[in-house]
Amino acid sequence: MDKVECVVVGAGVIGLAVARRLAQAGREVVILEAAEGIGTVTSSRSSEVIHAGIYYKAGSVMARTCVSGKASLYAYCRDHGIPHRNCGKLIVATNPKETEKLQSIRAQAEANGVLDLQTLSGDAARALEPALNCDAALLSPSTGIIDSHAYMLALRGDAEEAGAACAFHTPLLTARAAAGRIEIDAGGRAPMTLECSLLVNAAGLGAPAVARSIDGMPINLIPRAYLAKGNYFSCRARAPFSRLIYPVPEPGGLGVHLTFDMAGQARFGPDVEWIDAIDYAVDPARAERFYPAIRRYWPTLPDGALMPGYSGIRPKIVPPAVATQDFLIQGPADHGVAGLINLFGIESPGLTSSLAIADYVGELAGA
Ligand SMILES: Cc1cc2nc3c(=O)[nH]c(=O)nc-3n(C[C@H](O)[C@H](O)[C@H](O)COP(=O)(O)OP(=O)(O)OC[C@H]3O[C@@H](n4cnc5c(N)ncnc54)[C@H](O)[C@@H]3O)c2cc1C
Repeated sequence: MDKVECVVVGAGVIGLAVARRLAQAGREVVILEAAEGIGTVTSSRSSEVIHAGIYYKAGSVMARTCVSGKASLYAYCRDHGIPHRNCGKLIVATNPKETEKLQSIRAQAEANGVLDLQTLSGDAARALEPALNCDAALLSPSTGIIDSHAYMLALRGDAEEAGAACAFHTPLLTARAAAGRIEIDAGGRAPMTLECSLLVNAAGLGAPAVARSIDGMPINLIPRAYLAKGNYFSCRARAPFSRLIYPVPEPGGLGVHLTFDMAGQARFGPDVEWIDAIDYAVDPARAERFYPAIRRYWPTLPDGALMPGYSGIRPKIVPPAVATQDFLIQGPADHGVAGLINLFGIESPGLTSSLAIADYVGELAGA
């Protein structure tokens, strides 16, 4: 049986950031990935926004890793030449009730250490974005966008340069934890059994299933997986905005917002659609709900401008009735299994938080 110090399951943005962190600390690392390459699942289906850290509960893992991850991510992008743009965003209120809500959003941001939000009147917001309809807005100067694939390629490059190896088409099937060692059966094209002293479960949507397949992991500590799909529509018309435009958040997501990719292509979404099984098809009929939501802040959105885009699925660990969740990162002190770290519920802002989550895991692993 082959022996390796650390196995990371999953080559999404989280697994890659963790593998890089461990390899750069001198650990021997193998990444097991079920798919054919890096970042083919949730990590390639996001809005690619570098979030400021505004909405999350103060003191939560999400809030802490988003705020520190944002700073690390901007620095990483600058150092590695990753395409990104610190374009800023506006959170817009289109009625008095939402205007009131902006104050609590700003207070929440400040509790999280995001101190640069500016409250704008409708006129002040329109001076920045003339096509905007709003009563008032919050400007978040530290929000930005990133080419997430270029970022993942750089993380993989760093990890491999520090000695990590990727095994694609290699799903973890089962594992057994005993006496400080974990024995892993991997399937795929070249089935193998591996023994390691550290197993990091960064399998995204598959993380609860991976945890269940580890003999020795207490079942009662594994959260149930719920799937909250987010659909995107792209925009045929030129969107006349230079900042990201977000409505006041809705339960389960951030509302149908306008973002653009590094090429300037505008997209709207994601909405929130709770589903029972993984399915990435975007139902064109959902556009009918997007038009009124978008026209609240962009009244001149032309008819017929929206085209079905792509979708991503939020790896929720709470049911629809519970609006918010935190990242759940479990180490041996939480579940009693030596050498096992589980990452559950890494939804947005996981991309922004990735380097900070990697540091958190590194510290848990003593690396
Ligand atoms: C709609 C949407 C929009 C988002 N927008 C943003 C945003 O704008 N900004 C932001 O900061 N965050 C955003 N996020 C969050 C961010 O995309 C995720 O937090 C992040 O991509 C999660 O990465 P991951 O590595 O945990 O998961 P994934 O990218 O899903 O990677 C997990 C990997 O594990 C592999 N795997 C699964 N099971 C096994 C197994 N048994 N063996 C081996 N491999 C396995 C999978 O094949 C996959 O490659 C968004 C998320 C969604 C859903």
